[in-house]
Amino acid sequence: MNVFETMESNVRSYCRSFPDVFVKAKGSRIYAETGKSFLDFFAGAGALNYGHNNDFIKAKIVAYLESDGMSHGLDMHTSAKEVFLSRFSELILQPRNLSYKVQFCGPTGTNAVEAALKLARRVKGRTGIFSFMGAFHGMSLGSLAATSNLYHRGAAGTDLDRVHFMPFPQGFMNSFDTIQYLEEVLTDGHSGIEKPAAIIFETLQAEGGINEAPIEWMKKLRELCDRHGILLICDEVQVGCGRTGPFFSFERADIVPDIVVLSKSISGYGLPMSIVLMKPELDIWNPGEHTGTFRGNQLAFVGATAALEYSASISLEADVYRKGENVRQFLNEVIAPIHHSIVIRGMGLIWGIDVSASKHDSLSKEIASRCYELGLILERVGRDDKVIKLMPPLTISMEELEEGCAIVKQAVEECYEKYKASEYLLA
Ligand code: PMP
Repeated sequence: MNVFETMESNVRSYCRSFPDVFVKAKGSRIYAETGKSFLDFFAGAGALNYGHNNDFIKAKIVAYLESDGMSHGLDMHTSAKEVFLSRFSELILQPRNLSYKVQFCGPTGTNAVEAALKLARRVKGRTGIFSFMGAFHGMSLGSLAATSNLYHRGAAGTDLDRVHFMPFPQGFMNSFDTIQYLEEVLTDGHSGIEKPAAIIFETLQAEGGINEAPIEWMKKLRELCDRHGILLICDEVQVGCGRTGPFFSFERADIVPDIVVLSKSISGYGLPMSIVLMKPELDIWNPGEHTGTFRGNQLAFVGATAALEYSASISLEADVYRKGENVRQFLNEVIAPIHHSIVIRGMGLIWGIDVSASKHDSLSKEIASRCYELGLILERVGRDDKVIKLMPPLTISMEELEEGCAIVKQAVEECYEKYKASEYLLA
């Protein structure tokens, strides 16, 4: 038994899929103490869009540390926060004609979701929230109430209240008009469900299985919220910060949410940070009503400013489209033909290989484990974890991208080969 098994709680999870002890990481590679190196198609669950120890961002953080800049600042005025706010406004909000106020939260994604839900309820004076089947918004009680996974909900130990789950268009697309259903729920005096304060959604459900909301659907969702006086909250925690191409993933639908939640890659360096963006008229907070000690991670602010400058300097968005197109081609032309039941979904640099049509329950796990053996880290998402998720750093080189894809090909081929003639295989 190692110290992790003897000392660390059973709740540990990623380390069970990636059991090495990691000592070093650079760009898109992680190194284990055994000397083995891994390509990273996991990217800190979306917190490392700019790669590990990105030189540009690191230099700014190191310089700040060496200058004895404030490292912890609650919500005091600091130069690090001042520069971040100015640059965020100049580089992100103003060019998009977006007018949002910024709330700094406790440092994780779930903290920002909590703040967003609390604010929406206060603004509207209603307690209900609509979320979607397949949604992931975090593990603290308020966010967990809006998270659909019954395994995670089951661990709450208490009621998770006041959230209704609506069908997400993925999977219902051609058979069922989910917006019409929402409309019926909101207008039928016998729907049994009160009008909510807000609808919270992801433009692409990442943990839910790489389920992408169609553009038309998002536009209709925005209109529906306007029609009924409901706030629209967009959770950009995983797919924001350029993951799908544009900085905000909702830009694809040309909509403006009332509240936006950002975390993970906003700090640029994997340091904890999260923010809520709210339309100015929604900022009805009184001072200190929603507070917390770790709302001022100054190193994260320095990293965040550097990340914004860095992505602007290398035209990251265009780069993501270019690399994403390569991945799309690879998945559709090389992976999909391996078996007719494989379904490919995704955009930008977040992709899923859905093997759920296989009757062999452990197929996705075997593919991910084989990738790991071959030197590639990736995770599984979706119902019963049956979707292999490809999410490399956005800064990955084309050669590394191809190298990782070659491993995926080998792993998928080998695992399907094993079951090809078996009675377990596919519909
Ligand atoms: N929202 C989304 C869409 C997420 O993917 C996550 C994390 N996977 C969260 C919220 C919660 O973020 P955190 O784990 O930092 O609390």
